[in-house]
Amino acid sequence: MASRNTHILIGVGLSLTSYGIYKWRRKENWTLKGTCGSLILGVVAGILPDILEPSLNNPNHRAFFHSAGFAVLLLLSKKWVNENPNFAESQKLMFNSFVNTYISHLGADVRTPQGLPWL
Ligand SMILES: [Zn+2]
Repeated sequence: MASRNTHILIGVGLSLTSYGIYKWRRKENWTLKGTCGSLILGVVAGILPDILEPSLNNPNHRAFFHSAGFAVLLLLSKKWVNENPNFAESQKLMFNSFVNTYISHLGADVRTPQGLPWL
């Protein structure tokens, strides 16, 4: 079972990498606000599935918010946001980073003996 710290580490790494690529592609410098926002987003999205469905010493705590079905819904919402011209590029970056980090949590959990539910 991936620990909370592992989820945070993966989440922050993904979030900062997304932010760095975004800034690099736009040829812009990192800002303190953007860096701090990425750090916070990485921590929150990295542990959100376990906040929504805490283990409380129950190894079978994983339900809908840990499911493959919810991951598919997130990916579909990501596609919708990215194709929607009403969202600014910075909003798309934040949403993509959130979804990628959330799904990284599921990716770490799926490698455990309990796996993930389909729904
Ligand atoms: Zn989890």
